[in-house]
This record gives sequence, structure tokens and C-alpha cells, in this order.
Amino acid sequence: MSNYDAIVVGGGINGLIAGAVLGRKGKKVCIIEKAGSFGGMASYAVDGGPSLAHALYNLSPLALKDTGIDADHATLTGQQIDTVSLSSDGNHIAFKEGRVYWNDGTEHPQSQAWRELTHRLKTYGGLLRQLAEAPPPGGHSASLSRARFAEMLRLAKLGVGLKKLGKTEMRRFLQVVLSNVYDIVLDDLPDGPVAGMLAADAIRGAATGPRSPGTVFNLIYRLGHGGTITRPAGGMTAVVDALVEAARAAGCTMLHETEVSRILVDEDAVTGVLTADGQTLNAPMVLSNVASPLTCKLTGPSVFDIETTRRIRNIRARGTAAKVNLRLKDASPLPGLKDELKGARLIYAPSAAYVETAFNPAKYREMSKAPVIEAIRTELPDGSHWLSAIVQYAPSDIEGGWTQSALDQLTQLTIDTLDRAVPGLRDHIVGTQTITPDQIQAATGAPGGHWHHAEMSLDQLLTLRPSNGTSRYAFGPKGLFLCGAATHPGGDVMGLAGRNAALTALEALK
Ligand SMILES: Cc1cc2nc3c(=O)[nH]c(=O)nc-3n(C[C@H](O)[C@H](O)[C@H](O)COP(=O)(O)OP(=O)(O)OC[C@H]3O[C@@H](n4cnc5c(N)ncnc54)[C@H](O)[C@@H]3O)c2cc1C
Repeated sequence: MSNYDAIVVGGGINGLIAGAVLGRKGKKVCIIEKAGSFGGMASYAVDGGPSLAHALYNLSPLALKDTGIDADHATLTGQQIDTVSLSSDGNHIAFKEGRVYWNDGTEHPQSQAWRELTHRLKTYGGLLRQLAEAPPPGGHSASLSRARFAEMLRLAKLGVGLKKLGKTEMRRFLQVVLSNVYDIVLDDLPDGPVAGMLAADAIRGAATGPRSPGTVFNLIYRLGHGGTITRPAGGMTAVVDALVEAARAAGCTMLHETEVSRILVDEDAVTGVLTADGQTLNAPMVLSNVASPLTCKLTGPSVFDIETTRRIRNIRARGTAAKVNLRLKDASPLPGLKDELKGARLIYAPSAAYVETAFNPAKYREMSKAPVIEAIRTELPDGSHWLSAIVQYAPSDIEGGWTQSALDQLTQLTIDTLDRAVPGLRDHIVGTQTITPDQIQAATGAPGGHWHHAEMSLDQLLTLRPSNGTSRYAFGPKGLFLCGAATHPGGDVMGLAGRNAALTALEALK
């Protein structure tokens, strides 16, 4: 039997960050990961192919700082990448340095409107970031504890930030934040590849279309750290390696290939965990990087009241993002794409209406026949070249299941769609890998293989994330906390859920 101050169940991005934060606060921590390596969904890969996650949309400098990693660690976060919105007529659009250009280098007529709209959304994103960098408001006892005082200060700062926007802009913010991205974007831009790119960024990882309420929130959320998208220099594995190193440097014991089979509870307080290979590890604090339904299974439902178990059962998590990795024969440029855009993020979303239409089949448990794609070129350390593509919509609960024929169909649709915009691409492809949400669930435990472990919808955000009554990380018995993507402020390779949970756990157990 080993004794710790805290045990973290799961070594995904958030588990690693939670462990490192606790370790740096002097706690004796053990991080337990069931897979052969750390990183969870972010670095999950099959047969040496590219990892699931391929870009950093909003890795939090604050979360990095609290793990002891230099926030300006450019070698870790990598260089900013441009975005190209692909067009079937070959007239692609490039977004670079805050402007929009045609393929021939001339400025696009919608450049100024796009610039103004994204500037506004980034300002709103900065405000939402203040909410993301702390537990959701509410939930403290009436006494003026240090945490409550800090929360009041934060909310006051947010209020000042809103006031600074001015009356008109503040009214607009409140109207925009709860709206659907389709209406907001098309208020300022005609429909086409510029609007399509914004719609695609808003729905990535979600089981929603751009017309679903709250989708602007998702877009703004990703713009919270300025909207800079980078490709980590050594791939996502390098980001995970840096976090593992940070956790080790903070004194954490790191166990991999060790599955937690039970979270132990006695007299309504956690006492540790039992592993599948029969080890008992004791700790008065357990942070679970896995989603609430799985955490509930690990404790046994009897430690929760009936209302809480009902709410946990009702959390929506239908994964819709699949990964299709296309192995390229060599490093040669893709046809029709300028060499300077070789490393760009390629989006196939010719219009916001296209994205909405792509979502329709997913409502009826079918894959999109005309999918929305984000693809990035990547070279792996073994010298192989890939086009790593996130493809939507590929619902986890597809009618008939993800049979080999369904997998082949998804692979083919991805190639056909990209080849339409980049004619001749298929001649560069020498191999494929297709990873569907059900495989992601089986490998990591994420419900429905969902990008955020739980849908980022208005009824599952802030004080309602992952469910009403469990939004401030504490989860049932004393000493048990959730710290994964299902909690506030959600997933992406961002790290704030793990960081906030660790700080909340420390405060709660003082
Ligand atoms: C197809 C796809 C592509 C994506 N691409 C990007 C991208 O490009 N950029 C981006 O920012 N985000 C991306 N994401 C989202 C991002 O990867 C996740 O939001 C984030 O990694 C979630 O991290 P987490 O630590 O909360 O959870 P997870 O990564 O799910 O970690 C949970 C960990 O717990 C472990 N575990 C489960 N059960 C047990 C147990 N019983 N005992 C011990 N360990 C256990 C799992 O093995 C796993 O390692 C993508 C997601 C998907 C599905």
C-alpha cells in the first residue's frame, strides 16, 4: 500500500496539469494512466501515425505557467500557421497576418469585414477567458473566505471589462454570445468560404451545426487566447512530453499501463484507489481526469444521490469528429497550393450553409456525405509525410455501427472531398488511417469519443458543466474532484480544467 496526498486518475493533458500544479504546491501526487503512454486523446495515435490532435487553438499560458513551464516556450507551442479556406474552383482563400487574400496574392474584398468581425469576437473572447481561468461563479459558503473574495474581484474585473466595451458593444456582446454562429457571421459577411471557415471553427468537435444556439460561444471560446493557431514544433507528443516532464519535476509519481478499477470511498470520503493489477493506493484526495459517468462507475453509483446520478446519465456526449490520416508519398507540394502555404491549416467548408447541410445527416445517425474538414500537413520523426484531417460529421452512434464498410466510406469521402478542391491530391496518397469516435471512446474512455467529453452547449456550460450541482469540480464524496475536459471551461489542448480543478481541490481541503 502506498500513501499519497493526492491521486490523479488518468494522465491526459488535464490530468498531467492537475498533478503538476498539486505537486508544485508541495503535495505528494501519483498520476495513474491506463494506456502505455501519457497524453490521452491529444496524443492518441495508431500504428505510429499522426496524433489525434494536430494544432493548438488555445493552449493556456496560465495553465503552463502553473505547471512551471515557461509561458513563452515558443519551441513548445511552435510557429503560428496560416489558414486556407479551400474552394472547389481552385480559387482558394488565405488568411494571413490578419488579412484575407486570394490565391493570386490580391486582397479579398471581404478582408476588412472579416478583420473587423474577428477583432470584435477576439475582444469578447478576452472577456470569456477571465471566466475560463477560474471555477464557474457561485458555490462558496456565505462567509467571506479568501476564495470568495478572489471570485468577487474577478467578477468585478469582468464587469469593468464589459463596461469598457461601451453601451452599444456591451449590448451586442450579450446578444452575440448566446446566438448561433450562422446568423452572426452572415450579418457581416456574404456566405462563402470566408463565412464557411468561421462556421467550421465554431462547430469543430461539437454535435451541432452553425445554426444551433450557442455556437458563437464555441468560436469565441477558441479566440480567448488571441486566435493564434500553432502547430507544436515536435508535434503533440512534444507538448505531452513537456507536461510529463513538468509533473515529474514537481515530484509526481507517474504510473502508466496501470488502470484504476475502483475509486475507494469510506464514510462519504475518498480514501484512495484500487488498480486493476491489485494495488491499493491511499490518498484523501482523488482527481479524476475521466468524464463523470465513468468516474461514477469507478466509485459505484451508491455514493451519489439519485438526482445527481440522473443528471450524470443525462449529460450529452455524442462524438462527431473522426480522424483520417492520409499518408503522402513524399514532401512535394500539393497541387494548386502555393509553396508558402505548404504548412497551412486547410479548411474545407465552402460556405456556412455547407457546414449546416453537413450536420443534417448526423442528426439521423448518418455520416455527412459532404463533410467539413480541417487538414494539416505533418512530418513525423520517422520521415513519413501525412495530411492529418479532422472530419465532421462522423457520429459515434452511426446507424449500423462503424463497420469496415462504414470506415472505408468515410475514408473515401474524405479523399474525394479534398481531391475536389485540390485536384490530383489522391495521386499523392499512399496509405490511410481512419479513427472514429467509437475507437476513441474505447481507447481513452471519453464518452462517445467526444472532443470535450461532454457537449459544449448552453445547457452544459459554466455553472451547468458538466451538470447542475457538480460544476465546481467537487464530485460527490469528500475529496473527490473531476479535472477533465467535461468540466469548466471544457476541452481542447488548453489545460485550464486541470489547473482550475487542482487549485479548487487545494482550497476546498484546507
Ligand atoms: C479527433 C479529435 C481531434 C482533436 N484535435 C484537437 C486539436 O487539434 N487541438 C486541440 O486543441 N484539441 C483537439 N482535440 C480535443 C483534445 O484532444 C481534448 O479535448 C483533450 O485532449 C482532452 O484532454 P483531457 O485530459 O481532459 O482528457 P483525455 O485526453 O480523454 O484523458 C483522459 C485519460 O484518462 C485515461 N483513463 C481513462 N480511464 C482510466 C482508468 N480507469 N484508469 C487510468 N486512466 C484512465 C485515458 O487513457 C486518458 O489518457 C481533438 C479531439 C478529437 C476527438
